Amino acid sequence: MKKYDTIVIGAGPSGIMAAITATKNNKKCLLIERNSYVGAKILASGGGRCNLSNTLPTEAFVSMFSREGKFMLSSLKTFGSKELTEFLASVGVKCHAPDGFRIFPTTHDSKTVVNALTQELQRLNTDILMSHRVTEINNRNGSWEIDNAYFCNKLIIATGGLGFMHLGTEGDGYKFATATGHKITKLFPAMLPIETKETWVKNCRADTIGKAVVQINLPKHCNKKAVGDLIFTSTGIRGPVVLDFAREITPLIDEYGEVPLLINLVGGLNEEQIRAKIKSLPQNKISLPLPEMLNTLVPEPLCVELCKLVGIDFSCTISKVEKIKRDKLIKLLAKTPLTAISCGGFKEAMVTRGGVSLKDINCQTLESKISKNLYFCGEVLDLDGPCGGYNLQWAFTSGFIAGSN
Ligand SMILES: Cc1cc2nc3c(=O)[nH]c(=O)nc-3n(C[C@H](O)[C@H](O)[C@H](O)COP(=O)(O)OP(=O)(O)OC[C@H]3O[C@@H](n4cnc5c(N)ncnc54)[C@H](O)[C@@H]3O)c2cc1C
Repeated sequence: MKKYDTIVIGAGPSGIMAAITATKNNKKCLLIERNSYVGAKILASGGGRCNLSNTLPTEAFVSMFSREGKFMLSSLKTFGSKELTEFLASVGVKCHAPDGFRIFPTTHDSKTVVNALTQELQRLNTDILMSHRVTEINNRNGSWEIDNAYFCNKLIIATGGLGFMHLGTEGDGYKFATATGHKITKLFPAMLPIETKETWVKNCRADTIGKAVVQINLPKHCNKKAVGDLIFTSTGIRGPVVLDFAREITPLIDEYGEVPLLINLVGGLNEEQIRAKIKSLPQNKISLPLPEMLNTLVPEPLCVELCKLVGIDFSCTISKVEKIKRDKLIKLLAKTPLTAISCGGFKEAMVTRGGVSLKDINCQTLESKISKNLYFCGEVLDLDGPCGGYNLQWAFTSGFIAGSN
């Protein structure tokens, strides 16, 4: 049986960072990965551009992870975005924030990050076992035996969530956690497109709505809203605002079967402001059929669909539309009802909501409070952030903390 100080299961950003940090701390370390290469999700991240982190101060950063975010505070104070970009610079990856917020490698190529991390693992002589899917972990008097073949003092689980399973994440970490007495909070797909009951959306496919406001229209949840670009698809909605907001919607689909949404399609303008906008249009615009007249507010195909919903002949000019229907159209522009009914599940989820319960994890060290010498880092824990580099930063941060301890 091969013996190590530390074994890390999973070579995503958290596992790689944990292995690098443990090795730097003079620990004989083995990194085990079921894929034939490391960093599969880093490679896929940010559409291949790898949005590594962002420039938010720590308190604001953690607030984006909902109530549980506070768990990350001490880890982020030790290894936040500054420390991450310094570390990456030390291995040859320069980073920048071209929009002042999202941090990317200057190459805008995730391969740069994975290559640099791989070289660092090689430079440090960290043992790496690829194409090996760990199936069993056993506690032996406080130490750990893995697949009856490897033995270590400290074990780090960095197996990720359930999303994009084809990249190697099938929830094995949850099984290891359960086997060692940990609770797993309910798991939901997050960061993915949403399917709607309304089929008219397919006629507006590819229309991008800037600064759409998406709000849940359920009595107990109507304070939940998000703003950002929205894109209609053949079956529903996607785009940055939907990806971010999906983590609020999927648990409610599970609970209620369907979730009524109200979408503001005109950059947050209320009914009065829409009226004023229409009034301010030049005469030559006002005399055009509705979709053309309103095309500075909404794309024409969308206007056609909204007219149909209200029962307006969309080839009409506005003066030909009854006041009651005009009012209805304006109401609809400010609050278009859509019904979220399903999503593509974990196959399409970029992130998993839920995971190993934080109650049983020491937030300073990421060690299990139940099993000594067992650590968890990255997405396997019950923490998920929105788009914007939150999840990769947490993966690197937690990997650093677990590896340091
Ligand atoms: C398409 C896509 C784009 C994304 N873009 C961004 C982005 O731009 N910015 C951002 O912040 N976040 C992004 N994310 C989310 C981010 O990639 C993840 O949150 C992050 O990779 C989680 O890191 P991790 O180390 O915890 O787990 P993972 O990266 O999922 O790594 C876990 C590793 O463990 C391995 N493994 C699992 N089980 C076993 C086992 N039994 N034995 C051996 N190995 C095992 C898996 O093969 C995998 O390589 C994106 C995700 C996806 C899918």
